[in-house]
Amino acid sequence: MPLTNTPPTAELQALDAAHHMHPFTANGALGAKGARIITRAQGVRLTDSDGAELIDGMAGLWCVNIGYGRAELAEAAARQMRELPYYNTFFQTSHVPALTLAAKLAELAPGDLNHVFFAGSGSEANDTNIRMVRQYWALKGQPARRTIIARRNGYHGSTMGGGSLGGMAAMHAQGGLPIPGIVHIDQPYWWGEGGDMSPDAFGLARARQLEEKILELGPENVAAFIAEPVQGAGGVIIPPDSYWPEVQRIVDQYGILLIADEVITGFGRLGHWFGSQSYGIRPHIMTIAKGLSSGYQPIGGSIVCDEVAQTIAQDEFNHGYTYSGHPVAAAVALENLRILQEEEIVERVRDVAAPYLAQAWGSLSDHPLVGETVSRGLMASLALTPDKARRARFAAEAGHAGYICREYCFANNLVMRHVGDRMIIAPPLVIATDDIDELIRRARRALDQTLAHLQRDGAMVAA
Ligand SMILES: *Cc1c(COP(=O)(O)O)cnc(C)c1O
Repeated sequence: MPLTNTPPTAELQALDAAHHMHPFTANGALGAKGARIITRAQGVRLTDSDGAELIDGMAGLWCVNIGYGRAELAEAAARQMRELPYYNTFFQTSHVPALTLAAKLAELAPGDLNHVFFAGSGSEANDTNIRMVRQYWALKGQPARRTIIARRNGYHGSTMGGGSLGGMAAMHAQGGLPIPGIVHIDQPYWWGEGGDMSPDAFGLARARQLEEKILELGPENVAAFIAEPVQGAGGVIIPPDSYWPEVQRIVDQYGILLIADEVITGFGRLGHWFGSQSYGIRPHIMTIAKGLSSGYQPIGGSIVCDEVAQTIAQDEFNHGYTYSGHPVAAAVALENLRILQEEEIVERVRDVAAPYLAQAWGSLSDHPLVGETVSRGLMASLALTPDKARRARFAAEAGHAGYICREYCFANNLVMRHVGDRMIIAPPLVIATDDIDELIRRARRALDQTLAHLQRDGAMVAA
């Protein structure tokens, strides 16, 4: 039951259109159409202002790992607000939520990733990482090591730093990105870019671009390589198995720092606490956000290895955010981690939900519009194609078919995102198997409707 009387949807949409600037949105077009207003949520389901119930196949924005409606987190926030709603950690003070959360993250993180620098978001944390790795090398007496290698179609946030590390062409086209000292290599996207190579050969080739780039720049000028264990916003691109071991070899050989952006893959998404564990890689820094608080509070950070943290500690690090380690956000994150751990949610992803989703999602591969289905943990994607035998792209502009499919998903009360012509999901980690079944039924219906629509328009044409 709604706690308050929600005004009519049209009224809310009009206010939204008049005053609210949406991120990553053509606001004029959205304003004309009207945003869907989400009013409540429970478990894996959202309710909109007309009372319709949607399955949230995206866990919000990849973040609501424990699902919606966990009162324990609300209570943790209220308790902390009464006791100490805010204090900073800049000037020789600390507080219990921040230090407890840092210690907890050190316990959960692999290897000697024992130190945490807090931020308010994943973007901010990646901005921290740029400054931290450059300061690290400066303190090591190698100030020329400033260049950071990242990947095309990677996503690392939307601040100047995060957007520069990211390799999103549409973002770089606006606002003067990337900032200097960041270069990009190609992504390990076999289905879209692998041509006639086997996935393993392609994975090796894409990893070796890192070595080629290091040699081109001169290893003495390279600070770090940053990548997501599995690309999220780029379309849930799961690298071939050969990719990460080769990247690790190269990083080790040239002594550059490895930053694993775990903003999506952290906190159970791949069936391990961190995606790096899933791939057996050993980053020096992990970026975290999203699932850290299951999205109930904005908080992010960098989990840093002993060597980098001890080096940074040698001098004042002239960097920080007013809300670094915010006590309310930290208290909520701690409660979220307690639930993930005590309810064995990560183990359930690994043993139950991920294998179940892999099979259910894979069943969509018989659909005439679907070129490949892939999943790892509770991240999955499929490629829409007019000709699956040829792994063909559509002749129409990239994203046309994906957008239509997303609209049909939305109309079928399923939140599934499109990235170009890939459809992607990353549901809450607590999704039940019968909800996975329902998600797949709605996705199949949307695919059928999309196929009919594209055939009607004569758009089932390969490029
Ligand atoms: C979402 C995301 C970010 C940015 O996090 P924000 O909290 O939106 O700033 C960074 N890296 C990855 C991999 C992400 O998915």
